[in-house]
Amino acid sequence: MATIDEIDRDVYVRIQADLLVVGDSIMTNRHHSSNGNYNEDEPQNKIGGIIPPFSLSGWLRHGMEKVVQKRDTTVCHPGEANANFRKGDVYDRDLNAGYHEKGACVEDANEDDGCVVFDLFGGFNNQCGKIMRRPIQFSPVRDSVDYTRGQAEGHYRRLNRNVVSRNREDNREPLRNTELDAVGNLDGSWHLSFREQKPEFVGLLIEAIDFLDTHKTDFMHQLGGARNFGGGIVDCELINPLYSETELRRVFDRGKDPTNKMGEKDDEWGEEYRPAFVEALEERIEEGW
Ligand SMILES: [Zn+2]
Repeated sequence: MATIDEIDRDVYVRIQADLLVVGDSIMTNRHHSSNGNYNEDEPQNKIGGIIPPFSLSGWLRHGMEKVVQKRDTTVCHPGEANANFRKGDVYDRDLNAGYHEKGACVEDANEDDGCVVFDLFGGFNNQCGKIMRRPIQFSPVRDSVDYTRGQAEGHYRRLNRNVVSRNREDNREPLRNTELDAVGNLDGSWHLSFREQKPEFVGLLIEAIDFLDTHKTDFMHQLGGARNFGGGIVDCELINPLYSETELRRVFDRGKDPTNKMGEKDDEWGEEYRPAFVEALEERIEEGW
């Protein structure tokens, strides 16, 4: 029988996207590598950077909320019940659509687990949650990417959006110029760590990643910005947690097929582990939240 103890606290999600524009700025190492001669159109540039975890985290959380809501159970609203969130009718509308007020599932936030989303993400400022979401470090140089450390191959792009004057006498002078940081052709691993591990957390992660992959072209389940321009469509897949580091690296090696051993582990995961974790999630939800 598969047990939680056999799964490492560190798990990896493969993330692939043609174009990603995250709302929070991408941090780049441009100033290190450019020598002041940076040219964003130069394909040889070696600009790498970091995709901050905030957008990724919200995207994952939304997928997890759906997984629980599909089973006719409500989850914590991601926003505080006070202040500006309360204004307007958005919050109240959400409370009728699968959410309960944030923290309503606990009496004592330091003692009760609350709903599974509260349990995993933490509720209020003094609680960090039980899953650590890391940033993804990307580089255009595949040889330097360490997939076992949550890194990705990705190509930094600066997108320009010009709003041009239609008046002839303005000489089509740009009125406004917006620059967006983007990553193109992203392929890598997102590193997640459970601070505390419960089988239902793994079950929730499995189901959420499946859900997000199936719904990747739904506007609301795309990641980051520029969605109207094809940004944020993400292929995602939980990398078999039974894989060794060498096997994890091999997943990204386009020149190599999976080994027989990897195939055996896939069978084992699919037949034993995965159903056990999903069942644990179902039991947890049946118990209340
Ligand atoms: Zn809750």
